[in-house]
Amino acid sequence: MSTDWLTGIYLTTPVILEQPDYVTRLRDEIGLNTVVMGFTGEMPEEVLKLSPYGGTIPTEAELEAIILRHFDGRPIDPREYGQARNLCGPGAPLNGEDETFRRAVDQLKAAGLDVWTYGGAWTIRRLMFCPSNPDVRSWMETACVHWATEYGLDALDITHFRYPMGSFPLGLFGCTCTHCRSEADGLGYDMDRMVDDLKATREQLRRLDGKRLADVTRLGFGFFDVVHALGLRSGFLDWWRFRQDLVVKNLTQFRAAVKAASPDTRFGTDTYPASMAMTAGHDYLRWDQMCDFASPLVSHISAFVSNTFIEWARFLQEEIPNLTEEDALQVVYRFLGYDGMGLPETVAAYGHEDAATLADRIPTADLVLRDLVKAKLLLPEGVPSYPIIHGEGWGMETIDRILTEMKSLGHNGVVWQGTEDILNGK
Ligand SMILES: [Zn+2]
Repeated sequence: MSTDWLTGIYLTTPVILEQPDYVTRLRDEIGLNTVVMGFTGEMPEEVLKLSPYGGTIPTEAELEAIILRHFDGRPIDPREYGQARNLCGPGAPLNGEDETFRRAVDQLKAAGLDVWTYGGAWTIRRLMFCPSNPDVRSWMETACVHWATEYGLDALDITHFRYPMGSFPLGLFGCTCTHCRSEADGLGYDMDRMVDDLKATREQLRRLDGKRLADVTRLGFGFFDVVHALGLRSGFLDWWRFRQDLVVKNLTQFRAAVKAASPDTRFGTDTYPASMAMTAGHDYLRWDQMCDFASPLVSHISAFVSNTFIEWARFLQEEIPNLTEEDALQVVYRFLGYDGMGLPETVAAYGHEDAATLADRIPTADLVLRDLVKAKLLLPEGVPSYPIIHGEGWGMETIDRILTEMKSLGHNGVVWQGTEDILNGK
Protein backbone atom coordinates (compact mmCIF):
# COMPACT_ATOMS: atom_id res chain seq x y z
CA MET A 1 0.00 0.00 0.00
CA SER A 2 1.33 3.40 -0.96
CA THR A 3 2.18 5.61 1.99
CA ASP A 4 -0.01 8.38 0.61
CA TRP A 5 -3.11 6.16 0.67
CA LEU A 6 -5.69 8.06 2.67
CA THR A 7 -7.59 6.19 5.36
CA GLY A 8 -10.22 8.41 6.91
CA ILE A 9 -13.30 8.14 9.08
CA TYR A 10 -16.30 10.31 9.84
CA LEU A 11 -16.55 11.08 13.55
CA THR A 12 -18.48 13.48 15.74
CA THR A 13 -16.96 15.79 18.33
CA PRO A 14 -18.48 13.89 21.33
CA VAL A 15 -17.14 10.52 20.10
CA ILE A 16 -13.65 11.98 19.64
CA LEU A 17 -13.64 13.55 23.11
CA GLU A 18 -15.36 10.75 25.00
CA GLN A 19 -13.61 7.79 23.35
CA PRO A 20 -10.04 9.02 22.71
CA ASP A 21 -8.72 5.44 22.41
CA TYR A 22 -10.98 4.72 19.44
CA VAL A 23 -8.99 6.82 16.96
CA THR A 24 -5.61 5.71 18.24
CA ARG A 25 -6.73 2.09 17.92
CA LEU A 26 -7.90 2.75 14.36
CA ARG A 27 -4.62 4.54 13.63
CA ASP A 28 -2.62 1.56 14.85
CA GLU A 29 -4.82 -1.24 13.50
CA ILE A 30 -6.08 0.00 10.13
CA GLY A 31 -3.67 2.84 9.37
CA LEU A 32 -6.15 5.64 10.01
CA ASN A 33 -4.52 8.95 9.07
CA THR A 34 -7.46 11.34 8.64
CA VAL A 35 -10.59 12.21 10.63
CA VAL A 36 -13.50 14.05 9.02
CA MET A 37 -15.55 15.90 11.65
CA GLY A 38 -18.82 17.73 11.46
CA PHE A 39 -18.44 21.39 12.36
CA THR A 40 -19.75 21.93 15.89
CA GLY A 41 -18.00 25.23 16.67
CA GLU A 42 -19.37 28.75 16.72
CA MET A 43 -19.68 31.22 13.90
CA PRO A 44 -18.22 34.52 15.15
CA GLU A 45 -20.06 37.80 15.05
CA GLU A 46 -18.39 39.08 11.87
CA VAL A 47 -19.44 35.92 10.01
CA LEU A 48 -22.90 35.74 11.59
CA LYS A 49 -23.80 39.19 10.41
CA LEU A 50 -23.67 37.82 6.84
CA SER A 51 -26.13 35.03 7.57
CA PRO A 52 -29.23 35.15 5.35
CA TYR A 53 -31.11 34.35 8.57
CA GLY A 54 -30.29 37.89 9.76
CA GLY A 55 -29.37 36.78 13.28
CA THR A 56 -32.80 35.34 14.15
CA ILE A 57 -34.61 32.03 13.88
CA PRO A 58 -36.39 32.35 10.53
CA THR A 59 -40.15 32.21 10.21
CA GLU A 60 -41.73 30.02 7.56
CA ALA A 61 -42.11 33.03 5.26
CA GLU A 62 -38.48 34.04 5.78
CA LEU A 63 -37.28 30.53 4.98
CA GLU A 64 -39.45 30.38 1.89
CA ALA A 65 -37.76 33.55 0.60
CA ILE A 66 -34.35 31.84 0.46
CA ILE A 67 -35.11 28.21 -0.43
CA LEU A 68 -35.50 26.37 -3.68
CA ARG A 69 -38.66 26.90 -5.76
CA HIS A 70 -40.13 24.11 -7.85
CA PHE A 71 -40.98 25.21 -11.39
CA ASP A 72 -44.68 25.13 -10.58
CA GLY A 73 -44.03 27.84 -7.97
CA ARG A 74 -44.17 25.68 -4.85
CA PRO A 75 -41.46 26.12 -2.24
CA ILE A 76 -39.81 22.79 -1.57
CA ASP A 77 -41.19 20.40 1.04
CA PRO A 78 -41.79 22.11 4.43
CA ARG A 79 -40.99 18.93 6.40
CA GLU A 80 -37.39 20.07 6.89
CA TYR A 81 -38.17 23.53 8.27
CA GLY A 82 -37.57 22.31 11.83
CA GLN A 83 -34.03 21.27 10.93
CA ALA A 84 -33.47 24.56 9.12
CA ARG A 85 -34.33 26.40 12.32
CA ASN A 86 -31.58 24.54 14.22
CA LEU A 87 -29.00 26.43 12.17
CA CYS A 88 -27.58 29.94 12.42
CA GLY A 89 -27.43 30.04 8.61
CA PRO A 90 -27.26 27.41 5.85
CA GLY A 91 -24.98 24.56 6.91
CA ALA A 92 -23.84 25.86 10.32
CA PRO A 93 -25.17 24.90 13.76
CA LEU A 94 -27.23 27.31 15.85
CA ASN A 95 -25.68 26.44 19.19
CA GLY A 96 -22.06 25.76 18.31
CA GLU A 97 -19.35 25.50 20.92
CA ASP A 98 -15.86 26.46 19.90
CA GLU A 99 -14.07 25.22 22.99
CA THR A 100 -15.03 21.55 22.57
CA PHE A 101 -14.57 21.64 18.79
CA ARG A 102 -11.05 23.06 19.17
CA ARG A 103 -10.24 20.53 21.90
CA ALA A 104 -11.29 17.66 19.63
CA VAL A 105 -9.19 19.02 16.73
CA ASP A 106 -6.16 19.44 19.01
CA GLN A 107 -6.55 15.93 20.40
CA LEU A 108 -6.58 14.43 16.88
CA LYS A 109 -3.61 16.55 15.82
CA ALA A 110 -1.68 15.36 18.87
CA ALA A 111 -2.41 11.78 17.77
CA GLY A 112 -0.71 12.57 14.45
CA LEU A 113 -3.88 12.67 12.36
CA ASP A 114 -5.01 15.02 9.63
CA VAL A 115 -8.28 16.72 10.49
CA TRP A 116 -10.95 17.74 8.00
CA THR A 117 -14.40 19.14 8.48
CA TYR A 118 -17.45 18.31 6.42
CA GLY A 119 -19.17 21.47 7.61
CA GLY A 120 -22.52 21.72 5.91
CA ALA A 121 -24.03 23.52 2.95
CA TRP A 122 -27.15 24.07 0.89
CA THR A 123 -29.29 21.01 1.37
CA ILE A 124 -31.09 19.40 4.29
CA ARG A 125 -32.59 16.24 2.77
CA ARG A 126 -35.56 17.64 0.79
CA LEU A 127 -34.84 21.30 1.47
CA MET A 128 -32.29 23.35 -0.38
CA PHE A 129 -31.22 26.94 0.10
CA CYS A 130 -31.14 28.63 -3.29
CA PRO A 131 -27.56 28.56 -4.65
CA SER A 132 -28.20 31.70 -6.73
CA ASN A 133 -29.38 33.79 -3.80
CA PRO A 134 -26.60 36.37 -3.25
CA ASP A 135 -27.03 36.29 0.54
CA VAL A 136 -26.78 32.50 0.65
CA ARG A 137 -23.74 32.60 -1.62
CA SER A 138 -21.76 35.19 0.33
CA TRP A 139 -22.63 33.45 3.60
CA MET A 140 -21.38 30.08 2.32
CA GLU A 141 -18.16 31.64 1.06
CA THR A 142 -17.51 33.35 4.39
CA ALA A 143 -18.37 30.19 6.32
CA CYS A 144 -15.86 28.17 4.25
CA VAL A 145 -13.14 30.76 4.83
CA HIS A 146 -13.87 30.74 8.56
CA TRP A 147 -13.64 26.94 8.73
CA ALA A 148 -10.42 26.96 6.67
CA THR A 149 -8.61 29.62 8.69
CA GLU A 150 -9.60 29.34 12.34
CA TYR A 151 -9.02 25.76 13.48
CA GLY A 152 -5.83 24.50 11.84
CA LEU A 153 -7.80 22.05 9.69
CA ASP A 154 -6.08 20.30 6.79
CA ALA A 155 -9.07 20.23 4.45
CA LEU A 156 -12.69 21.12 3.98
CA ASP A 157 -14.76 18.29 2.50
CA ILE A 158 -18.06 20.10 2.70
CA THR A 159 -21.16 17.98 2.52
CA HIS A 160 -24.43 18.90 0.80
CA PHE A 161 -23.00 21.25 -1.83
CA ARG A 162 -25.54 19.70 -4.18
CA TYR A 163 -29.21 19.61 -5.13
CA PRO A 164 -31.56 17.38 -3.11
CA MET A 165 -31.17 13.66 -3.72
CA GLY A 166 -32.95 12.06 -6.66
CA SER A 167 -35.36 10.20 -4.39
CA PHE A 168 -37.11 13.52 -3.69
CA PRO A 169 -38.55 14.32 -7.13
CA LEU A 170 -39.60 17.86 -6.18
CA GLY A 171 -35.94 18.75 -5.79
CA LEU A 172 -35.17 17.70 -9.36
CA PHE A 173 -37.30 20.50 -10.72
CA GLY A 174 -35.91 23.55 -8.90
CA CYS A 175 -34.76 26.12 -8.46
CA THR A 176 -36.61 28.59 -10.67
CA CYS A 177 -36.73 31.61 -8.34
CA THR A 178 -35.98 35.10 -9.62
CA HIS A 179 -32.29 34.79 -8.63
CA CYS A 180 -31.96 31.51 -10.55
CA ARG A 181 -33.74 33.05 -13.51
CA SER A 182 -31.16 35.82 -13.73
CA GLU A 183 -28.28 33.36 -13.15
CA ALA A 184 -29.64 31.22 -15.99
CA ASP A 185 -29.70 34.26 -18.20
CA GLY A 186 -26.11 35.15 -17.30
CA LEU A 187 -24.93 31.61 -18.00
CA GLY A 188 -26.61 31.54 -21.42
CA TYR A 189 -29.75 29.55 -20.58
CA ASP A 190 -33.40 30.37 -21.14
CA MET A 191 -35.42 29.50 -18.02
CA ASP A 192 -38.79 29.60 -19.75
CA ARG A 193 -37.63 27.28 -22.48
CA MET A 194 -36.10 24.85 -19.99
CA VAL A 195 -39.34 24.71 -18.00
CA ASP A 196 -41.42 24.29 -21.19
CA ASP A 197 -39.18 21.46 -22.38
CA LEU A 198 -39.29 19.69 -19.00
CA LYS A 199 -43.09 19.82 -19.15
CA ALA A 200 -43.13 18.60 -22.78
CA THR A 201 -40.96 15.64 -21.79
CA ARG A 202 -43.45 14.67 -19.13
CA GLU A 203 -46.33 14.93 -21.59
CA GLN A 204 -44.53 12.65 -24.04
CA LEU A 205 -43.66 10.19 -21.26
CA ARG A 206 -47.39 9.88 -20.58
CA ARG A 207 -48.03 8.89 -24.20
CA LEU A 208 -45.81 5.80 -24.03
CA ASP A 209 -47.38 2.39 -23.65
CA GLY A 210 -46.03 0.55 -20.60
CA LYS A 211 -46.19 -2.92 -22.10
CA ARG A 212 -44.27 -1.91 -25.21
CA LEU A 213 -41.77 0.03 -23.12
CA ALA A 214 -41.20 -3.11 -21.04
CA ASP A 215 -40.59 -5.15 -24.25
CA VAL A 216 -38.01 -2.62 -25.42
CA THR A 217 -36.37 -2.55 -21.99
CA ARG A 218 -35.95 -6.33 -22.06
CA LEU A 219 -34.26 -6.04 -25.47
CA GLY A 220 -32.09 -3.17 -24.22
CA PHE A 221 -32.64 0.51 -24.98
CA GLY A 222 -29.89 2.98 -25.79
CA PHE A 223 -29.16 6.70 -25.76
CA PHE A 224 -31.03 7.54 -28.96
CA ASP A 225 -34.01 5.41 -27.90
CA VAL A 226 -34.37 7.62 -24.81
CA VAL A 227 -33.95 10.86 -26.74
CA HIS A 228 -36.37 9.70 -29.43
CA ALA A 229 -39.06 8.14 -27.24
CA LEU A 230 -39.21 11.14 -24.92
CA GLY A 231 -39.10 13.63 -27.79
CA LEU A 232 -36.31 15.35 -25.87
CA ARG A 233 -35.76 18.99 -26.68
CA SER A 234 -32.57 20.89 -25.95
CA GLY A 235 -34.07 22.71 -22.94
CA PHE A 236 -34.38 19.37 -21.15
CA LEU A 237 -30.63 18.79 -21.28
CA ASP A 238 -29.97 22.49 -20.62
CA TRP A 239 -31.79 22.12 -17.32
CA TRP A 240 -29.29 19.59 -15.93
CA ARG A 241 -26.35 21.50 -17.42
CA PHE A 242 -27.58 24.76 -15.89
CA ARG A 243 -27.69 23.24 -12.42
CA GLN A 244 -24.19 21.78 -12.89
CA ASP A 245 -22.90 25.16 -14.09
CA LEU A 246 -24.33 26.84 -11.03
CA VAL A 247 -22.61 24.39 -8.67
CA VAL A 248 -19.32 24.79 -10.55
CA LYS A 249 -19.63 28.59 -10.41
CA ASN A 250 -20.34 28.65 -6.68
CA LEU A 251 -17.70 26.16 -5.64
CA THR A 252 -15.05 27.75 -7.86
CA GLN A 253 -15.75 31.02 -6.04
CA PHE A 254 -15.68 29.41 -2.55
CA ARG A 255 -12.50 27.50 -3.29
CA ALA A 256 -10.75 30.65 -4.57
CA ALA A 257 -11.70 32.49 -1.37
CA VAL A 258 -10.40 29.63 0.78
CA LYS A 259 -7.13 29.47 -1.17
CA ALA A 260 -6.64 33.23 -0.92
CA ALA A 261 -7.02 33.07 2.87
CA SER A 262 -5.30 29.73 3.52
CA PRO A 263 -3.37 28.38 0.51
CA ASP A 264 -2.51 25.03 2.12
CA THR A 265 -6.04 24.05 3.10
CA ARG A 266 -7.49 21.58 0.62
CA PHE A 267 -11.01 22.20 -0.61
CA GLY A 268 -13.53 19.59 -1.67
CA THR A 269 -17.10 18.43 -1.37
CA ASP A 270 -18.49 14.94 -1.14
CA THR A 271 -19.37 13.71 -4.58
CA TYR A 272 -22.75 12.25 -5.56
CA PRO A 273 -22.66 8.68 -7.00
CA ALA A 274 -21.56 8.98 -10.63
CA SER A 275 -24.60 7.30 -12.22
CA MET A 276 -26.94 9.89 -10.71
CA ALA A 277 -24.56 12.83 -10.30
CA MET A 278 -26.34 14.95 -12.90
CA THR A 279 -29.57 14.78 -10.88
CA ALA A 280 -27.75 16.41 -7.95
CA GLY A 281 -25.96 19.05 -10.05
CA HIS A 282 -22.53 17.39 -9.77
CA ASP A 283 -20.27 17.41 -12.84
CA TYR A 284 -17.37 14.98 -12.46
CA LEU A 285 -15.86 16.23 -15.73
CA ARG A 286 -15.19 19.66 -14.17
CA TRP A 287 -14.32 18.46 -10.67
CA ASP A 288 -10.77 19.88 -11.00
CA GLN A 289 -12.18 23.36 -11.60
CA MET A 290 -13.89 23.52 -8.24
CA CYS A 291 -12.25 21.00 -5.89
CA ASP A 292 -8.82 19.68 -4.93
CA PHE A 293 -10.14 16.12 -4.62
CA ALA A 294 -13.30 14.05 -5.04
CA SER A 295 -14.94 11.94 -2.36
CA PRO A 296 -17.53 9.75 -4.09
CA LEU A 297 -20.29 9.25 -1.56
CA VAL A 298 -21.19 5.67 -2.43
CA SER A 299 -22.12 4.65 1.11
CA HIS A 300 -25.76 5.73 0.99
CA ILE A 301 -27.10 2.67 -0.82
CA SER A 302 -30.50 3.20 0.76
CA ALA A 303 -31.19 6.96 0.72
CA PHE A 304 -29.40 7.85 -2.52
CA VAL A 305 -29.71 4.76 -4.63
CA SER A 306 -32.44 2.27 -3.66
CA ASN A 307 -34.93 4.97 -2.65
CA THR A 308 -34.41 6.65 -6.01
CA PHE A 309 -35.14 3.38 -7.85
CA ILE A 310 -38.33 2.92 -5.86
CA GLU A 311 -39.55 6.52 -6.13
CA TRP A 312 -38.86 6.75 -9.85
CA ALA A 313 -40.53 3.37 -10.50
CA ARG A 314 -43.62 4.63 -8.64
CA PHE A 315 -43.55 7.84 -10.65
CA LEU A 316 -43.34 5.94 -13.95
CA GLN A 317 -46.23 3.72 -12.93
CA GLU A 318 -48.31 6.83 -12.21
CA GLU A 319 -47.42 8.41 -15.54
CA ILE A 320 -47.36 5.49 -17.98
CA PRO A 321 -50.39 3.29 -18.64
CA ASN A 322 -49.96 -0.52 -18.53
CA LEU A 323 -46.59 -0.47 -16.76
CA THR A 324 -46.21 -3.06 -14.00
CA GLU A 325 -44.08 -2.43 -10.92
CA GLU A 326 -41.56 -5.09 -12.00
CA ASP A 327 -41.22 -3.54 -15.44
CA ALA A 328 -41.01 -0.01 -14.01
CA LEU A 329 -38.07 -1.06 -11.85
CA GLN A 330 -36.30 -2.61 -14.86
CA VAL A 331 -36.80 0.63 -16.85
CA VAL A 332 -35.25 2.63 -14.01
CA TYR A 333 -32.29 0.24 -13.63
CA ARG A 334 -31.63 0.43 -17.35
CA PHE A 335 -32.11 4.20 -17.58
CA LEU A 336 -29.81 4.92 -14.62
CA GLY A 337 -27.23 2.36 -15.69
CA TYR A 338 -27.63 -0.21 -12.92
CA ASP A 339 -29.12 -3.01 -14.99
CA GLY A 340 -27.77 -6.54 -15.25
CA MET A 341 -26.49 -6.90 -11.69
CA GLY A 342 -29.52 -8.64 -10.19
CA LEU A 343 -31.20 -5.82 -8.26
CA PRO A 344 -34.57 -6.70 -6.63
CA GLU A 345 -37.45 -7.38 -8.99
CA THR A 346 -40.11 -5.88 -6.73
CA VAL A 347 -40.30 -2.96 -4.32
CA ALA A 348 -41.19 -5.33 -1.48
CA ALA A 349 -37.96 -7.27 -2.04
CA TYR A 350 -36.01 -4.18 -0.93
CA GLY A 351 -37.53 -4.67 2.53
CA HIS A 352 -37.38 -0.97 2.92
CA GLU A 353 -38.65 -0.76 6.45
CA ASP A 354 -35.32 -2.31 7.50
CA ALA A 355 -32.71 -0.09 5.82
CA ALA A 356 -29.94 -1.26 8.17
CA THR A 357 -29.89 -4.73 6.58
CA LEU A 358 -30.47 -3.58 2.99
CA ALA A 359 -26.91 -4.58 2.03
CA ASP A 360 -27.89 -8.24 2.55
CA ARG A 361 -30.68 -8.03 -0.04
CA ILE A 362 -28.97 -6.20 -2.91
CA PRO A 363 -25.69 -6.83 -4.78
CA THR A 364 -23.94 -4.12 -2.73
CA ALA A 365 -20.39 -4.63 -4.02
CA ASP A 366 -21.52 -4.59 -7.67
CA LEU A 367 -23.66 -1.52 -7.07
CA VAL A 368 -20.92 0.47 -5.34
CA LEU A 369 -18.18 -0.62 -7.73
CA ARG A 370 -20.22 0.35 -10.76
CA ASP A 371 -20.26 3.95 -9.53
CA LEU A 372 -16.56 3.81 -8.69
CA VAL A 373 -15.69 2.56 -12.19
CA LYS A 374 -17.76 5.39 -13.67
CA ALA A 375 -16.12 7.90 -11.34
CA LYS A 376 -12.71 7.04 -12.77
CA LEU A 377 -14.00 7.41 -16.33
CA LEU A 378 -15.39 10.86 -15.59
CA LEU A 379 -12.93 12.46 -13.16
CA PRO A 380 -10.14 14.50 -14.75
CA GLU A 381 -6.71 12.88 -14.59
CA GLY A 382 -4.87 13.80 -11.42
CA VAL A 383 -7.89 14.53 -9.22
CA PRO A 384 -7.42 12.36 -6.11
CA SER A 385 -10.50 10.32 -5.24
CA TYR A 386 -11.38 9.08 -1.76
CA PRO A 387 -14.60 7.05 -1.90
CA ILE A 388 -16.77 7.03 1.22
CA ILE A 389 -17.92 3.53 2.10
CA HIS A 390 -19.56 1.72 5.01
CA GLY A 391 -17.43 -0.21 7.47
CA GLU A 392 -20.58 -1.39 9.25
CA GLY A 393 -23.49 -3.50 8.04
CA TRP A 394 -21.99 -4.54 4.70
CA GLY A 395 -19.95 -7.57 5.86
CA MET A 396 -16.25 -8.17 5.40
CA GLU A 397 -16.53 -10.02 2.11
CA THR A 398 -18.26 -7.06 0.44
CA ILE A 399 -15.91 -4.53 2.03
CA ASP A 400 -12.80 -6.49 1.05
CA ARG A 401 -13.91 -6.79 -2.56
CA ILE A 402 -14.76 -3.09 -2.83
CA LEU A 403 -11.45 -2.07 -1.24
CA THR A 404 -9.38 -4.35 -3.48
CA GLU A 405 -11.12 -3.25 -6.68
CA MET A 406 -11.15 0.46 -5.86
CA LYS A 407 -7.39 0.32 -5.34
CA SER A 408 -6.86 -1.35 -8.68
CA LEU A 409 -9.16 1.22 -10.31
CA GLY A 410 -6.78 3.94 -9.10
CA HIS A 411 -8.75 5.57 -6.29
CA ASN A 412 -6.49 7.14 -3.68
CA GLY A 413 -7.97 6.25 -0.33
CA VAL A 414 -11.10 5.44 1.59
CA VAL A 415 -13.22 7.31 4.11
CA TRP A 416 -15.15 4.99 6.40
CA GLN A 417 -18.58 5.55 7.78
CA GLY A 418 -18.38 3.28 10.83
CA THR A 419 -15.77 0.61 11.42
CA GLU A 420 -17.52 -2.22 13.28
CA ASP A 421 -17.03 -4.83 10.54
CA ILE A 422 -13.42 -3.94 9.82
CA LEU A 423 -12.39 -4.00 13.48
CA ASN A 424 -14.23 -7.25 14.20
CA GLY A 425 -13.13 -8.82 10.93
CA LYS A 426 -9.47 -8.42 11.65
ZN1 LIG B 1 -33.19 29.95 -6.88
